[in-house]
Amino acid sequence: MENNAYRVLLYYKYVPIEDPQTFAAEHLATCKELGLLGRILVSSEGINGTVSGTIEQTEAYMDMMKADPRFHDIMWKMDPADGHAFKKMHCRAKKEVVHLGLEDDINPNELTGKYLSPKEFFEQMQNEDTIVLDARNDYEYDLGHFRGSIRPEIRNFRELPEWIKENKDMFEGKKVLTYCTGGIRCEKFSGWLVREGFEDVGQLHGGIHTYGTDPEVQGQLWDGKMYVFDERISVPVNRVEHVVVGKDHFDGTPCERYVNCANPACNDKILCSEENEHLYMRSCSDACRTHERNRYVKEHGLTEEQVQEKLAALDAHQKTLSV
Ligand SMILES: [Zn+2]
Repeated sequence: MENNAYRVLLYYKYVPIEDPQTFAAEHLATCKELGLLGRILVSSEGINGTVSGTIEQTEAYMDMMKADPRFHDIMWKMDPADGHAFKKMHCRAKKEVVHLGLEDDINPNELTGKYLSPKEFFEQMQNEDTIVLDARNDYEYDLGHFRGSIRPEIRNFRELPEWIKENKDMFEGKKVLTYCTGGIRCEKFSGWLVREGFEDVGQLHGGIHTYGTDPEVQGQLWDGKMYVFDERISVPVNRVEHVVVGKDHFDGTPCERYVNCANPACNDKILCSEENEHLYMRSCSDACRTHERNRYVKEHGLTEEQVQEKLAALDAHQKTLSV
């Protein structure tokens, strides 16, 4: 296969879409006709998508979108790719394109933080009176983040407003900068911060993706990699230096390899080496390891006896560690 003959597109637009159900069904049909694969969310507040396809397919899609007055000014983010980054094509109508769990939701077209270019963000994040806040999920932060940024003690982005309220003292007299993957979460979240009374709120326009591709800043001050919601799982950001911040779930050694816990009821993302994946049966805990529907056991066709052998080997390994 020819290298980089494919592309991954990342985009969003907050714009009123009437009858999102019908729109989603028609949009899905069009995407399938074009040969795209990916995931698109549509709601009355806008559209949020990631799709992959050949150069021609993605070009045709962008042309089609640009011809629609609602979407003509979308800021497209593009990554070259060796092939599709998805297995299927989904386009679904949802209540919101970004769920921040607010009773009184934010319309970013009416209220949002100041847009900062990569260069402005790079400069302002280095000011002492500034707090840089990661507006993503915990596992995204753990793989990579801006140096010195705050990791809110939350699991999911939608818990962020509650966490901010509980930790308001931290922000006293500070300027706040927020960032996320492509910018869509920050539009709403920074708007919420403004509504909450934070006076100086900036957001990284175009998100980490735009920051990493900016020819001037080249992703500097980003450590680790960026988590992405497709089969690539992660992509590089910092073009100048690569500092690994991810840590193996089991032994704490530097690691940037995500797997999902083999217990389907858990499915947590865990960073682990290939060696530890086999040693720990790709399970985040003892309970997950011995779960009756453990996928590692199934995938490797392990008999009950083999499972017991593996558990004994792990037990022996852990004893050597604790000596
Ligand atoms: Zn687990």
